[in-house]
Amino acid sequence: MTDFTYDLGADGVAIITWDVPNKSMNVMSLEGFALLDSFIDRALADEACKGVVITSAKKDFAGGMDLNVIAQMRAGGAEAIFNGVMQMHAVLRKIERAGMDPKTLKGGKPIAAALPGTALGIGLELPLSCHRIFAAPNEKAKIGLPEIMVGIFPGAGGTTRLVRKMGAMVAAPFLLEGKLSAPKAAKAAGIVDELAEDPVAAARAWVLEAKDADLVKPWDAKGYKMPGGAPYHPAGFMTFVGASAMVHGKTMGVYPAAKALLSAVYEGALVPFDQALRIEARWFTSVLMNPSSTAMIRSLFINKEALEKGANRPKVADQTVSKVGILGAGMMGAGIAYVAANAGIEVVLIDASIEAAERGKAYSAGILDKGIARKKVTEEKKAEVLGRITAATDYATLAGCDLIVEAVFEDPKVKAEVTQRAEAVIPTGAVFATNTSTLPISMLAKASVRPEQFIGIHFFSPVDKMMLVEIIKGEKTGDVAVAKALDFVRQIRKTPIVVNDARFFYANRCIIPYINEGIRMVAEGVSPTLIENAAKLVGMPLGPLQLVDETSIDLGVKIAKATKAAMGEAYPDAAVDEVIFWMADQGRLGRKNGAGFYTYDAAGKRGDFWDGLAAHYPQASAQPELHEVQHRLLMAQVLEAVRAFEAGVLEDIREGDVGAILGWGFAPWSGGPFAWLDILGAARAVEICDDLTARFGPRFEAPALLRDIAAKGDGFYARFGGGQSAKAA
Ligand code: NAD
Repeated sequence: MTDFTYDLGADGVAIITWDVPNKSMNVMSLEGFALLDSFIDRALADEACKGVVITSAKKDFAGGMDLNVIAQMRAGGAEAIFNGVMQMHAVLRKIERAGMDPKTLKGGKPIAAALPGTALGIGLELPLSCHRIFAAPNEKAKIGLPEIMVGIFPGAGGTTRLVRKMGAMVAAPFLLEGKLSAPKAAKAAGIVDELAEDPVAAARAWVLEAKDADLVKPWDAKGYKMPGGAPYHPAGFMTFVGASAMVHGKTMGVYPAAKALLSAVYEGALVPFDQALRIEARWFTSVLMNPSSTAMIRSLFINKEALEKGANRPKVADQTVSKVGILGAGMMGAGIAYVAANAGIEVVLIDASIEAAERGKAYSAGILDKGIARKKVTEEKKAEVLGRITAATDYATLAGCDLIVEAVFEDPKVKAEVTQRAEAVIPTGAVFATNTSTLPISMLAKASVRPEQFIGIHFFSPVDKMMLVEIIKGEKTGDVAVAKALDFVRQIRKTPIVVNDARFFYANRCIIPYINEGIRMVAEGVSPTLIENAAKLVGMPLGPLQLVDETSIDLGVKIAKATKAAMGEAYPDAAVDEVIFWMADQGRLGRKNGAGFYTYDAAGKRGDFWDGLAAHYPQASAQPELHEVQHRLLMAQVLEAVRAFEAGVLEDIREGDVGAILGWGFAPWSGGPFAWLDILGAARAVEICDDLTARFGPRFEAPALLRDIAAKGDGFYARFGGGQSAKAA
């Protein structure tokens, strides 16, 4: 075990260096923590040691707790978690008190933290327990407590210490939003104490000079008052009442970690420091015991990272892209050009006219200018990125491209033509990808002379913001094309899922039934307010009616017509069409023309529901229960995900869950559709499906796989959590 080393210098300063073997970033394990503890004991006991500097041998300090450890802790149950956390508190508190006399507060040994770079989670909680934090002014470094992003909160004293250091109001964005800062900003906020080019040297010098009073934390000194006021102080009162309302408004109460964090802060502020740590530990335990945190950590951290690292990548040679050709410089093509050029890839951006191609390139300039205005991008960086994009009309400029991404009109004839023109000039080893959202990949591949090198790479709009990329294998798509697509997605730092070719692939297949279920309810006379609020109260970012307004009602009409043409008699959505075709006839096409299910003012701001809707679809006097509306809206998506998995369109439930959260914002607290079914329990899910089927029709019938899992008392993750496909099982 060599996660930490201890080196006592001739000057009496012990340097404890964090350097986890075989990892590029330090993460804390239980063994690592025990070793650190033993070194602190050694330093405090050794008379030759005057003080300690804790640092890292890597370019960063630490990325946080090893989340697999959290999973292990959870396996021991609530008592084990609580005891484990209290043990951590004891070690960090030992660092903070550093052997001083608890009454006189004298005689402690100075302990400083020296951060060369990024310090996240426990990687900041440990420094916060030290007496002074020195950070290198490394602009790439990120400092903060991002725990809330994966459904937990800082539970190793970070919550209690930050609030006592800066006050609840100032600490709020760092704790509640997981805000990360570069060292300069962290210093300005008061999280770190000093910036130093050589933080170890600066920390060492400080340790040698530190006086007793320098080691006493404000909360351990007599007469401590919390900055901004504790809950019953008039200013504090405003803060705490306001924070509770704000958090509830933002989270709709579905994130247990946000509520628990607030409770730990509020209750902790009323009691002495050591008791506050106990309270923090209790709330942290309750969050870890909540299935939502397990599911969020699994999907948003462990499995997301596994997919990004190529969990489902075929074992073929590296396929890093050096030059990408993008056909069509419209909304999608322009966005794809930006993310590729920004990742250092050469881009040729083709459109039918040079004006259109240049307009596509100008889109990148626009994003970069916004970055410059926010001081996130430099003029040099802008010039560099734009320098990588060649806007053109001549297909000959595609020579040398090892990947093509086609984003022309959604028309098979246009797509076939550009496929042939591009393939005539690109190298024979190049891969051709289409960004189609609705056309079958295998059908489009017929235009290709190399169908094994033809694939779908489906981006979501807006491309620069949406983190998911859906990779679609056609019937003939080979491993090299899949690897190429995955390597491209890795280069542009997005998260991939790989699915098979079927109508609407995965994400759109699940989101369309959600929208449709909302629209059906309008026709049934369910209050639109109830529909939208039910969705938001279960953690969906947008209600179905707002979502269709955003994506546009005429797009809905177009998709409905195409689907009906393909399905014929089996088409199940006539009730939905009645509403959206009527809306389109009324000229209500959604936000883009300022008129949809909602009204919009001249500036495009969304107002109330359009009153013509209630006139045409009067609200029923008896309204359904909130839960029933929520079950309909969730099951519409979730059952489609299960069917996609059962049919082998989706080959891995991890992709299904990660893809759902990143692709369409499926209730992140749940960890995704499969995780939600596991939380609910398959037996209860089948019960809900049977009830909904009896009352609303066969679209809610429980798939055989769900029934089987329910009958055997099994779970999706218990059976398929290692990436097993339903087809293979
Ligand atoms: P768009 O209309 O904004 O852009 C299409 C561009 O292709 C236009 O600039 C057009 O001039 C150009 N073009 C047409 N024919 C061409 C040709 N022969 N040669 C070169 N350029 C040509 O459309 P979009 O929204 O960017 O969509 C493009 C593709 O991406 C479609 O297949 C669409 O289904 C898919 N897609 C769209 C979205 C979305 O949200 N808009 C999301 C995912 C996928």
